[in-house]
Amino acid sequence: MSKTRFNALSAFSSRPKLNVELPAEKISDFFASAVFGNQQMKEFLPSDAYKRLAACIKDGKKVDRDIADQVASAMKAWAMKQGATHYTHWFQPLTGTTAEKHDSFFVPKNGSGIEEFSAESLAQQEPDASSFPSGGIRATFEARGYTAWDVTSPAFIMTVGNGKTLCIPTIFISYTGETLDFKAPLLKSIQILDQAATEVCHYFDRDVKHVNTTLGWEQEYFLVDSAMYYARPDLVMCGRTLLGRRSPKGQQLEDHYFGAIPERVYAFMRDFEIESLKLGIPVRTRHNEVAPSQFECAPMFEEANLAVDHNSLLMDVMDRVSSKHKLKVLFHEKPFAGINGSGKHNNWSMGTDTGVNLLSPGKTPRTNLQFLTFFINTIAAVNRHEELLRASVASHGNDHRLGANEAPPAIISVFSGSYLKNVLELIEKRVDEDKFDEQDNITLRLDIHNSIPDIMLDNTDRNRTSPFAFTGNKFEFRAVGSSANCGLPMTVLNTIVTEQLRLFKTEVDEYIKAGDYKDVAILKVLRKTIKEAKKIMFEGDNYSDDWHKEAKKRGLSNNKNTPTALDAFVSEKTLKLFESLEIYSHREAEARYEIALENYIKAIQIESRALGEIVINQIIPACIEYQNKLITNVKGLKEVGIDAKTQVNILKQISEGIDKLVTLDKEMFDLRVKGNELTNAKKQAALYCDKVKPLMDEMREITDSLEGIVDDELWPLPKYREMLFSK
Ligand code: ADP
Ligand code: MG
Repeated sequence: MSKTRFNALSAFSSRPKLNVELPAEKISDFFASAVFGNQQMKEFLPSDAYKRLAACIKDGKKVDRDIADQVASAMKAWAMKQGATHYTHWFQPLTGTTAEKHDSFFVPKNGSGIEEFSAESLAQQEPDASSFPSGGIRATFEARGYTAWDVTSPAFIMTVGNGKTLCIPTIFISYTGETLDFKAPLLKSIQILDQAATEVCHYFDRDVKHVNTTLGWEQEYFLVDSAMYYARPDLVMCGRTLLGRRSPKGQQLEDHYFGAIPERVYAFMRDFEIESLKLGIPVRTRHNEVAPSQFECAPMFEEANLAVDHNSLLMDVMDRVSSKHKLKVLFHEKPFAGINGSGKHNNWSMGTDTGVNLLSPGKTPRTNLQFLTFFINTIAAVNRHEELLRASVASHGNDHRLGANEAPPAIISVFSGSYLKNVLELIEKRVDEDKFDEQDNITLRLDIHNSIPDIMLDNTDRNRTSPFAFTGNKFEFRAVGSSANCGLPMTVLNTIVTEQLRLFKTEVDEYIKAGDYKDVAILKVLRKTIKEAKKIMFEGDNYSDDWHKEAKKRGLSNNKNTPTALDAFVSEKTLKLFESLEIYSHREAEARYEIALENYIKAIQIESRALGEIVINQIIPACIEYQNKLITNVKGLKEVGIDAKTQVNILKQISEGIDKLVTLDKEMFDLRVKGNELTNAKKQAALYCDKVKPLMDEMREITDSLEGIVDDELWPLPKYREMLFSK
């Protein structure tokens, strides 16, 4: 048997089981113990400073210098008490991972030294930013970038082995002021949505001062044994299998979803959950997913900025803890062709500081009008910017998943559930304009809550095929890929809803000015809004061919791959939206577009090179070895029942396979060389998408059929059945 594969299998079979202990009696005893949260601030700050800091956090205001000084020294005292020796500005550059550069508190002085942490070090750092993606922003202007403290996300202590580091969540910007990360635009979008939604809330409740965006993500992932992972160069380099024949058993028995969690996986889950809980990530749910070796983890929802930070942090923690368990966690959207891939549903809503979820149907006609206002305006926003929303989830990994009959298609539509659909139809068709000044009449018709049994609201139709589904008290954006930073889709969603709420308010105010009752004005505009937006609504099976045809008729976009989808990020309509709401300047939007294209190009370039190498260095030699064995062992093989005709056939298939692989590799290589000559990123991306990817698929088809022929003992790579069903 091939050495690496054999070693991996034997390493796997002798794995010891890890024992995971809860660090205290109950979770509430250690939850957020590694976070400089409210309780810690209270304990370590003078009470006046604490109050002023708390106010800044609540209102997202700038922290004064004298407060920053006190916060820095409180943070240092707390962190050192926990055993931290270093601090870092923690940020989320456009690479898609997190970044950190550690500095020690310790400063040498006169042969010895002291521990220091100043307001400056807390507030701002200058990482050597030139190697982070900037889409040309830094190349042309200014090479430096800086990170700046995000007061609204609490600092925390990251423990790696025995080392502890104080991490300060920060935004990352260039010296010329352009944002270079996911967080800075997200914060802006949260702020503008807060303003726009608060103003609209004032139609219903004057006491509302703030509206928060809330996000509850659901993280899907795969696990493979680390020995098998390291025996698969494709997993190591690309995070997905570039070849590998489907095993006879896949997910067809449907025996994995919600099944008993394997013991080793269970230990891993408990371990990373404990680490996450210490960091204040409120993880609650764990279960098996549909595909073998696929799982999911979900927290309680939080304010969106914190939720995005927590998701990035969780992915880091999971990766680290998985190594300890000799497992490897895969966040790629499609690690194994032929079985389901992984997504990250983003449950999104808006909540007031008075404690009302604006997407929760209310108990009175009045609160229902408020609910309908936010519900309908969200749908309208998605309708106006469906292409941009699609662009916000575009990545090479997600291309394998969207539209693969397991995840929503690349067509964005909104599912409301049949009850609400009827309510919308009622508003659109049956509310008689003549009767608009009879206030009672109208409000009575909106008494949704009294006319639906509670149970219906709790079990809103679960249309699992919809990319953007209303699920009772939130919208669930399901097209987000599992490896994505939720910051981008959330930024886009907040921005488009802000624009829509502003348009809505302007129109309502005009009607009011012209003499309409407030509720009448609101209903008039809602009615018009539904009419315009309803083409985005779809209640049926999003996977069906009929929907593709219907969507086309309706004029909805169906941008199937990343290079095509990304165009919407820099369309005139989008640039105007981003600029007018000050989310991205023209230059920032273009830079992001360029970075996204570059990420796409690089990913496929790496994949095609890796595939070429594996084929030439591992697959073809194994095939030749088997070929020789067949040729020299005619007699032996006859004895085990392979007759001469079959042998000739197999030999023929192998040599044809090898020939094709060599030709394809050369074609791919030629394209790559040509690809590099093209300077335009868009042209390169299209080349990788339209030419290189199909060749890779062809190559996979051939190697996978060879895998079905060649002696199992000689096959060099761990097989699907070994990676997916070994528990
Ligand atoms: P599912 O709908 O997937 O069956 P749940 O209804 O329990 O399961 O919620 C799924 C996710 O939605 C959870 O992660 C939860 O935190 C999140 N969620 C619930 N309410 C809200 C809200 N108001 N805002 C954002 N996310 C929410
Ligand atoms: Mg869900």
